[in-house]
Amino acid sequence: MEKVLVNLAYLLAASLFIFGLKGLSHPKTAVRGNMLGALGMFIAVVVTLLDKRIVDFSVIIAGLIIGALVGVILALKVEMTAMPQLVAIFNGLGGGASTLVAGAALYEAQNPDYLLTTASVASGIIGAVTFFGSMVAFGKLQGLVKERPFRYPGEQVVKALFGLGALALGAYIVLNPESVNLYWAVVLISSVLGVLLTVAIGGADMPVVIALLNSYSGLAAAATGFVLQNNALIISGSLVGASGIILTNLMCKAMNRSLLNVLFGGFGEVAKTEEEDIYAGKVKATSPEEVALLLEGARRVVIVPGYGMAVAQAQYAVRDLYNLLESKGVEVEFAIHPVAGRMPGHMNVLLAEVDIPYDKMKELEEANPTFEQTDVVIVIGANDVVNPLAQTDPKSPIAGMPVLEVWKAKTVVVIKRSLSPGFAGIPNPLFAMDNTLMLFADAKKAVQEIVNSLKES
Ligand code: NDP
Repeated sequence: MEKVLVNLAYLLAASLFIFGLKGLSHPKTAVRGNMLGALGMFIAVVVTLLDKRIVDFSVIIAGLIIGALVGVILALKVEMTAMPQLVAIFNGLGGGASTLVAGAALYEAQNPDYLLTTASVASGIIGAVTFFGSMVAFGKLQGLVKERPFRYPGEQVVKALFGLGALALGAYIVLNPESVNLYWAVVLISSVLGVLLTVAIGGADMPVVIALLNSYSGLAAAATGFVLQNNALIISGSLVGASGIILTNLMCKAMNRSLLNVLFGGFGEVAKTEEEDIYAGKVKATSPEEVALLLEGARRVVIVPGYGMAVAQAQYAVRDLYNLLESKGVEVEFAIHPVAGRMPGHMNVLLAEVDIPYDKMKELEEANPTFEQTDVVIVIGANDVVNPLAQTDPKSPIAGMPVLEVWKAKTVVVIKRSLSPGFAGIPNPLFAMDNTLMLFADAKKAVQEIVNSLKES
């Protein structure tokens, strides 16, 4: 009877996870989705703690307090722009925890059967790759490790050897369960593999890697669920694994990469275009007053937000600009690139925070055909997502990535502080085009000044 109740509670938790994920698929319902998922996890944790014959709660309670404290502090402190790094750490810790728990369960078992050894080995391999891969991803995103891909002759062979080595040793443990000590050798080989796989991936492909590591952390958790025979862990791990793969697929599409190319290809090498060559004498600077005049005469304006808008926290000023232009009868829309910013949905979240209507946020496919009929495009802190090199330079690290074709508008105003490159580290010919005006300033300050000028006119 007790078991039935536990499984019913797990079923409830699993349903809450699924409704939570459904909610997360739209900004309007995302907060509710998040709450449902959290409630599901709370139920799963409480029921698991009550179900198991726990001898001493003191270590668990200490862990819960420390974990909750760290979680709350991080949630309050971490800037939106540092969210990918935080996600990378979360993924990594999930993978690391799975590896350690599976290892402990394997050691504890007297006569481990095939299911236990296979699941433990799977958890050990995937978890260790996830932990070390995520730590490298964190280092790259945080600027602690070089963002450029680390490539060397024969790297695919080296990676294949480590991968096959981990699998072969894992198979040996499954066939010879008494050699349980080899588990840590599997973990060690997989850890090196995790590092090798991620250092080879270029900065511009990081979004895909983060999504993929997220999926791995779910798969490791699901494998540990089999080790512990815990249905809630199997279900939640599978959901994370599946949604991570769906997200990876979406990110690959958004960047026109095939997953195999991201993992093993030579992307991310920086194009050798000299900055001086493309900008020399061709860049036209403008002022907030001049931009305000341009906007006064416009009928249709498209705003393209990017990472710089998030850094400057310019979304409130952008909302004021949007309201003011709409009140003057100008049609205003937002064109949002799927990898703008530093995490999927980054721009949507920021704009939703300041109540920009959802129907004003257009996706790339919808926005691109409209630029020709647009009087002014205002690019706010975006760079890679509006870089024409993606279409014109096959050697560029972003070659083939669909971009917002803002240059087709009558006039493009780009707000950024300098001619510095964006995440991909490459120059952007848009800044030197005839119909582009550069407003060199912090995004928030610049937009506020445009709003002030518009109000005065
Ligand atoms: P980019 O990183 O290409 O460019 C951002 C620009 O913002 C910079 O060139 C910078 O120029 C400018 N900027 C920075 N701070 C400010 C400020 N305070 N005020 C005004 N401008 C500022 O951003 P995009 O959004 O165009 O592209 C996103 C990139 O990030 C893509 O390459 C994508 O692959 C990558 N990425 C995306 C992830 C995702 O999931 N969305 C995750 C990880 C990476 P300056 O210094 O001159 O001001």
